[in-house]
Amino acid sequence: MEPLSDPVLALLRGAYFGTLFGGFFFFLLWEGGAPRIAFVSAAARRRHVLRNLGMLGLVVLIADLVVGGWLLGTVNRIGAASPGLLSRFDLARPVLLAIGIVAIDLFAYWWHRTCHAIPWLWRLHRVHHSDTHLDATTGARAHALETSLEIVVLVGAMLLAGIPLWVELTRTLFLNPLLLAQHANVIVPPWFERAARPLIITPEIHRVHHSPIRAEQDSNFGQIFSIWDRLFGTYRTPPAITTDVGVAGLSAECFQTLTGMCITPFRRV
Ligand SMILES: [Zn+2]
Repeated sequence: MEPLSDPVLALLRGAYFGTLFGGFFFFLLWEGGAPRIAFVSAAARRRHVLRNLGMLGLVVLIADLVVGGWLLGTVNRIGAASPGLLSRFDLARPVLLAIGIVAIDLFAYWWHRTCHAIPWLWRLHRVHHSDTHLDATTGARAHALETSLEIVVLVGAMLLAGIPLWVELTRTLFLNPLLLAQHANVIVPPWFERAARPLIITPEIHRVHHSPIRAEQDSNFGQIFSIWDRLFGTYRTPPAITTDVGVAGLSAECFQTLTGMCITPFRRV
């Protein structure tokens, strides 16, 4: 298959940044106007947003630039075909895109489940769960080591499977706004929740995953599609009234600062 042309790649990249920044702006405005749970003050909200965006800055710096760009050369490979399994079949681009999106979402489910099951991976992943007040920026709160590892494993798997990297870039056009919505400090209209639950991981489904109760944390691992949790027995129906969020033992201020989040994986709790 021919590599994607430069104008198409430029369009995809533009759409990526547009949906990411547009999504942030949209939810930050909504959260400011009608928050689900108000912060104690405007300063507390500002501090929370800046800390989580600080973590995103570290991810971009370490994971995306160093691991993605330099070590794996993903930036240069995005438009190219992947050499693995699917490259043997002469699949049309839309077919490859559809197969790729479903396959990567299945990978994301199992990667996420593994991050909860293996203790040293949980130490990294618990940084995301340790947020005690969810908002759109919680979606950006991840430890750079966890994201670095995920990029290495995902890109390696995509190359082996023969899924071009532009498939993931296209998937993120849907995924980024959904991740923001899943964590946003807003109340999504009930009709949307009802209509979307059979197909996608809605904000209420994902909120169960942020419960401080371990059994509830170990459910609803899906990223885009809710079918994987239903299929593999980890789906939990959200309660009518949502409960607290966070991780037992990680709610103190020292786990919420930028430095605190960076060293959380190495701390005894
Ligand atoms: Zn998780």
